Amino acid sequence: MSPDRGLIHVVGAGLVGALTTIGLARLGYRVALFDRRADPATSARELGRAVNVVVSARGWRALEGIGLADEVRALCTPLIGRCIHLWRGDRLEQAYGRQGEQIWCIERSLLHDFLSARAACEPGVRLHWAHRLRSVELERGLLGFQVAGAAETSITWVPFERACGVDGAFSAMRGALFEETFDFQQQWLEVAYKELRLPSRADGGPELDPGRFQVWPRGRLLLGAFPNQDGTFTGSLFLPRTGFPSFESVASEADFAVLVRTFFPDLEPWLGTLWSQYRDNPATPMVTIRCRPWSWGGRFVLLGDAAHALVPFLGQGMNCGFEDARALCRCLDEHGHDWSHALAAFERERRPNADALAVLSLAHYKHLNHVPHPSDEARERLGLLLDEIAPERFRPLYELVAFTDIPYAAAERLEALRCETIERLLQDPSFDGPWPSDAEDRVRRALQARRG
Ligand SMILES: Cc1cc2nc3c(=O)[nH]c(=O)nc-3n(C[C@H](O)[C@H](O)[C@H](O)COP(=O)(O)OP(=O)(O)OC[C@H]3O[C@@H](n4cnc5c(N)ncnc54)[C@H](O)[C@@H]3O)c2cc1C
Repeated sequence: MSPDRGLIHVVGAGLVGALTTIGLARLGYRVALFDRRADPATSARELGRAVNVVVSARGWRALEGIGLADEVRALCTPLIGRCIHLWRGDRLEQAYGRQGEQIWCIERSLLHDFLSARAACEPGVRLHWAHRLRSVELERGLLGFQVAGAAETSITWVPFERACGVDGAFSAMRGALFEETFDFQQQWLEVAYKELRLPSRADGGPELDPGRFQVWPRGRLLLGAFPNQDGTFTGSLFLPRTGFPSFESVASEADFAVLVRTFFPDLEPWLGTLWSQYRDNPATPMVTIRCRPWSWGGRFVLLGDAAHALVPFLGQGMNCGFEDARALCRCLDEHGHDWSHALAAFERERRPNADALAVLSLAHYKHLNHVPHPSDEARERLGLLLDEIAPERFRPLYELVAFTDIPYAAAERLEALRCETIERLLQDPSFDGPWPSDAEDRVRRALQARRG
């Protein structure tokens, strides 16, 4: 029989909260898990927010650790790369990894429901749906919930000994730390996104490869779409919030038709259904949030988006949150369940990595929205050569992030080194014109000269 290590209150039964709960339960903790949502088993889904998320190496490691990887994989669609829709209907296929590595895509709400149902089955876990956290009294150890159906002003106070705040980017748990010396930084992106579901091929429209992420990079705007198992694609249209074109300026059906015909003419057969979704779905802004500390008094800690909200372009918010959950459980184990030491170690390990990932995620929007151009060829070929010659130092950033679990901060440093090396190599005039036949020798010599 596993030991009873006491009761933990977890607020937020989202992706990371559910995984954290399962991890804590496996360590012998009892968990009271609260979420403002109604029980997903008995309630309708929220429309217009059906985002797809991608599970990559870090996420799989965490899921394997709790024995759920195979079941989750069965719900996912594997992707081997991107299909870039260039102007005038041309397409360019790019692999995610040199070895044919895959990432796995799933509707976020499906994964939510799966993980929270699994958390509810763990011995010692009690789920409390429809409990919206309104207030936290840290010193007195009280969580104040508004329970669905009760009066606005009626708060149910629940005492806690130890608590985890996993209640997403706009965390009410985080709010408690503002009473203390707390650094908080919130950076809104100029771009927002709207969900647009692309019908299946059977409904007319272009053939889209279900094994690839579809992307239409268009400078100020971007459309990306992930395949679903039913043949449809869940798309996200990224558009500036203001200016031209923007969610503000594209307001009528006629404006929207011009936008589609100009930027995504291949999608014109679906104009009717796309317009009704564009009209009805909310434009969701995106934010990067950094804060510190993440923990208080050896008894209260933030994880997932509550600790570090990221823009979604690298597809790592959830993967990073899953790593948080795994790291928290490991730290508790390594520190003999002394929460003070474990939380300090957890934050020391995770915060620099979340900070690095925030920078990398912001920068990746440019990469996703970059239309390959002949003038990039030398840069790209040099990147490939470096990766071949010394993969341990020059593996491309996306591969480091998606297919390894080296710390994000280390991936950021390696990426800086890679970019700097390529720029230095480009100073050699022989890379200006046609590709030199001795390119590999030149690169090897340059690397050796640097080392020497
Ligand atoms: C468009 C888009 C695409 C993305 N793609 C990817 C991807 O491909 N891969 C990836 O790894 N990540 C991706 N992400 C990021 C990922 O969705 C988040 O990082 C992840 O959902 C964070 O999980 P979380 O559990 O910390 O927060 P959430 O999933 O937001 O869960 C928070 C939970 O807390 C509950 N809650 C909130 N407030 C309260 C309250 N006051 N009281 C009680 N409960 C509360 C909510 O109901 C919710 O259940 C994407 C995000 C977006 C927006």
